[in-house]
Amino acid sequence: DVENISDLKKLTVLGHGNGGIVYKVRHQKSNSIYALKVLNTTSSTIIRHQAAHEAEILKRLDSQFIVKCHAVFYTIEGEICFVMEHMERGSLFDSLRVRKKLSEDVISGVAYRVLKGLQYLHGMQIIHGDIKPSNLLINGKGEVKIADFGVSRIVEETRNNNNHNNNNNNNIGEAAIACMGTCAYMSPERVDSERWGGDYGFAGDVWSLGVVVLECLVGHYPLIGFGEKPDLMALICAICFGERLEMPETASPEFRRFVRSCLEKDWRKRGTVEELLAYPFVTKRSSSSNIEGLII
Ligand code: ADP
Ligand code: MG
Repeated sequence: DVENISDLKKLTVLGHGNGGIVYKVRHQKSNSIYALKVLNTTSSTIIRHQAAHEAEILKRLDSQFIVKCHAVFYTIEGEICFVMEHMERGSLFDSLRVRKKLSEDVISGVAYRVLKGLQYLHGMQIIHGDIKPSNLLINGKGEVKIADFGVSRIVEETRNNNNHNNNNNNNIGEAAIACMGTCAYMSPERVDSERWGGDYGFAGDVWSLGVVVLECLVGHYPLIGFGEKPDLMALICAICFGERLEMPETASPEFRRFVRSCLEKDWRKRGTVEELLAYPFVTKRSSSSNIEGLII
């Protein structure tokens, strides 16, 4: 186990993100490889709160469908460091960039693992809030796991906040944090609401999964046609008012049913994680579906 941050030797950079860098590191004593996410929290109160919040969430999680966080360190320089399981094959974003499209069988394996991860999170009253290809990581076995809890919400806490904040509009920080979730994968109800984390929040994760699944088959972001300029307004219109889904002709009936249920605009009618886990698109996949097809 990693007891001291100074035992970790930085090897390469694995990724950049909001306020932080993720390094590949070696633990000198055990010779094990980890991913180290370093958030510099001195620059902004929002980032500091977000990072402390992420640490609180991560420490509670233990699932084979969630990227494991082994330890959290707070350095005197004001950084927060997460020692995480190293996901050797990068993210689904990287995988899509190279492979362009994935087969339905592979996508089914991805959907299954993300749903199992969401089932675990939602069971703990946690809304991920930022399900998208760059936050779905792949290990050496081709297994997909959910990562990046930077904008996650614990429902109970949000509810309490909402009660306390009813009169004094003291939620600027929260709104700013919520905005950092990528708009492209946000559900209509979330785009429509400054506040999230109520009962509809769980359904927002399902919507995001629907966008990811469709993107994997189509080969590009699926809610805006290729010709259109991808500005924010067009994006939000496509999410909230887009009439029909552009389903590839080759898509199987099982795939169509699954994606339609995830991308149901009215969150009350959307499939729940439990329901979607029982859909034929998920249950019919072959046992090897999550191995070869993802690896780049
Ligand atoms: P951010 O909040 O900045 O988006 P992420 O946790 O999503 O941070 O990490 C950013 C990127 O770094 C990811 O998209 C991925 O490419 C890489 N990365 C993050 N965690 C790991 C990990 N455990 N193993 C391998 N790569 C990782
Ligand atoms: Mg991320």
